[in-house]
Amino acid sequence: MAQSFVDKLENVLTLFLRCIGPIFVFFASSLILWIAYVHFSILLPHQLSTFRLENENNNNNNNNNNIVDSSQSKGITLKYSLGFLYIVFQYSISIYLLFSIAFNYIMTIIVPPGNTPRDSDYSEQELIEYKSITHIKRSETYNKFCVTCRLPKIERAHHCQLCKTCVLRMDHHCPWVNNCVGQNNHRYFILFLLYLLVSCIYVCILSIPHVFGDIYGGYLPFSTLMTFVLTLTISLALGGLFFWQFYLVMTNQTTIEFLHNRTQSRKAKARGEVYKNPYHLGIANNLREFFKVTNLPWYYFAAPMSSGYDRNLAEKKRESVDAV
Ligand SMILES: [Zn+2]
Ligand SMILES: [Zn+2]
Repeated sequence: MAQSFVDKLENVLTLFLRCIGPIFVFFASSLILWIAYVHFSILLPHQLSTFRLENENNNNNNNNNNIVDSSQSKGITLKYSLGFLYIVFQYSISIYLLFSIAFNYIMTIIVPPGNTPRDSDYSEQELIEYKSITHIKRSETYNKFCVTCRLPKIERAHHCQLCKTCVLRMDHHCPWVNNCVGQNNHRYFILFLLYLLVSCIYVCILSIPHVFGDIYGGYLPFSTLMTFVLTLTISLALGGLFFWQFYLVMTNQTTIEFLHNRTQSRKAKARGEVYKNPYHLGIANNLREFFKVTNLPWYYFAAPMSSGYDRNLAEKKRESVDAV
């Protein structure tokens, strides 16, 4: 009776989380687009008008002082060139950041995280055998068989209650992308966090003079104030999440594996042993493998490219590490 109530509650919760996924995605997209709109329509034009005003003031000063020596003139030209380059840089970096956020966010949402083989991948006899298994000893079958799908589970795969399937190298189910974060979209997810964090810090810094200065003569537009508050809040929240995720990538663990490894580590410590994460290949190798720059220069780590995890390569490396 109690079990059936818990099951029902779990089903209702699962349904609720599945329904609010699209709402979360719509909310996150609207927020990002609104901040981008304020950035491109208020903050950047203000930078441009400040540059123009400074340039006009310089020209007026030159016209008033008829005698301008060549060194002064060169200094003014250099200042103008640097100011112009600074404005071009600001517009270019803003467009690049917006493109990267949109690309990585959309890819995290639409790319399937990677599923284990389904019914059609097994023979009829195998399927009869798997489906007939009714009792599983978890300690003996951990990471080998999914009790819900009633199918073999590939190494590092976990079952997602919301997606109702096993997901390869599953990290977590994220409502903000309405998808599981797993083997094939984890890189997009991390890069989305990184670009969003950098963008929020950048927009927050640009909005400081608008909020605390006297640009509008005592009046402060609501959009500018909200942009400052939102980007500051998102930067703080996202900063914690990004660095946590980056730590997991550096140590080659998923969020689920971190909990498992912590338990194993405690048990090993109680026995006087030291537990070693079998997938940890060293920080540099973990990062190269995760960001797909094993055969590329390191600065490609944030480039828009495939997010697939090379399982064969990882297994090969792990075997070579074990052999040492
Ligand atoms: Zn499963
Ligand atoms: Zn899921």
